Amino acid sequence: MNGRIPTLGGTGGSRAWFDRAQSSLAGGISSSARLTSTGPHPYPLYMASGSGTRIRDVDGNEYLDFLISYGSAVLGHAAPELTEALTGVLHSGTMFGTCNPVEVELAELICEMVPCAELVRFANSGSEAVQGAIRAARGYTGRSKILKFEGHYHGWSDTLAISNRPTAAEAGPYDAPHAVPHSPGIPGGVVDDVVVCPWNDPAALHAVLEAHRGELAAVICEPIVANNACTMPAPGFLDLLREECTARGIVLVFDEVCTGFRTGPGGAQALFGVVPDLAVFSKALGGGLPIAAFAGLRQVMEPMARGQVKHGGTYNASPLCATAALVTLRRLNRTEVTKRIDETGRQVMETIRRATRDRGIPCAVQGVGAMFQTVFTPDGAPTRHYRDLLTTDQDRYHAFRHELLKRGIHTNAYNMACWFVSATVTDDELAATCEAVTEAVAAL
Ligand code: PMP
Repeated sequence: MNGRIPTLGGTGGSRAWFDRAQSSLAGGISSSARLTSTGPHPYPLYMASGSGTRIRDVDGNEYLDFLISYGSAVLGHAAPELTEALTGVLHSGTMFGTCNPVEVELAELICEMVPCAELVRFANSGSEAVQGAIRAARGYTGRSKILKFEGHYHGWSDTLAISNRPTAAEAGPYDAPHAVPHSPGIPGGVVDDVVVCPWNDPAALHAVLEAHRGELAAVICEPIVANNACTMPAPGFLDLLREECTARGIVLVFDEVCTGFRTGPGGAQALFGVVPDLAVFSKALGGGLPIAAFAGLRQVMEPMARGQVKHGGTYNASPLCATAALVTLRRLNRTEVTKRIDETGRQVMETIRRATRDRGIPCAVQGVGAMFQTVFTPDGAPTRHYRDLLTTDQDRYHAFRHELLKRGIHTNAYNMACWFVSATVTDDELAATCEAVTEAVAAL
């Protein structure tokens, strides 16, 4: 079906599945992030199928999908070239737990596409690959502490699930934030090894680096902060990180789980022209299958390459997932593909800007075309760091998201997350999205 999409019908089927899930799945869900609501309805949507940009829930409602499994289904759902390649692997064996030729071809392609990538290791999720990069950085430097930025997300594992979403009361002073564990169950010893700093603030960065001189193994960041509503790096801030890390012998890690291969074939490091020592990839890498990677300079990866620093994983780079990644990256390595993704998103961004401006609604539409978010800041200025996000109008965000959902546009439920654009949005689907956006803003 092209053009206009139907408005949201009943969602009783989703409600029934959520009720049923309570007795077998803890909390009825498989990931904390999935406990969302459907507008006024206190239960998440249950999806049944997808094709291209479209997904269909268990009640038969159809949506244009701008969640695309958090950016993973970058070629669209059930992309024919993936289906064909993966069907072949299903027939020839999905996994042997041994070395396989596809992982080699995939690693070679990553080294060709990504500026920092000289050696690669694979994992199965972003959290795992972050853990691998941090292990590599600690093994290489012989130091323990990691500097992370307040609000940046690097997965759910203990290592860095710290100060992801602290409340204003927990967060402490702006320029010397507390390290706040994201959850009970994270040991104090782990928290003690994490130093937190505000994003985009050169003076605060300098002070924190000085206070921990000689102690830091790595500085890690999301170069575009997908998990802080696509807060962009201030001009020169990534360069400053590069200079400081080089001068101090600290490993600079870019978490490109969201930006990788999506913001262009070389990810954010190519976009901004700043090359980290290590980078972490997942999401768009697998085109919808679970695969992740960490990659970086030969020198930093060398202790792992020698087998001195350990890293393992039964499922790492299985033929099934490595094939999905190879097919996906071959497509994303064509600049016309990432360019189209970017241009599609930019048109939606511009439509939101125009519609909100016409109605005098203060907000910023920030990020890049491939991943962006609308933030209802009090003065309409873009956010600079996590604390700015605490002052945005969340009720208005949720109302906007609900109005979009009613018009068949599926986006992330969280105001601090973002829209992800796939390569399959047709001109008609883009026009329908822009029309729905304009109507949704008018309904606010
Ligand atoms: N880093 C970033 C920047 C992420 O956005 C995410 C997931 N949203 C992760 C790491 C963790 O990835 P995963 O959920 O695959 O463990």
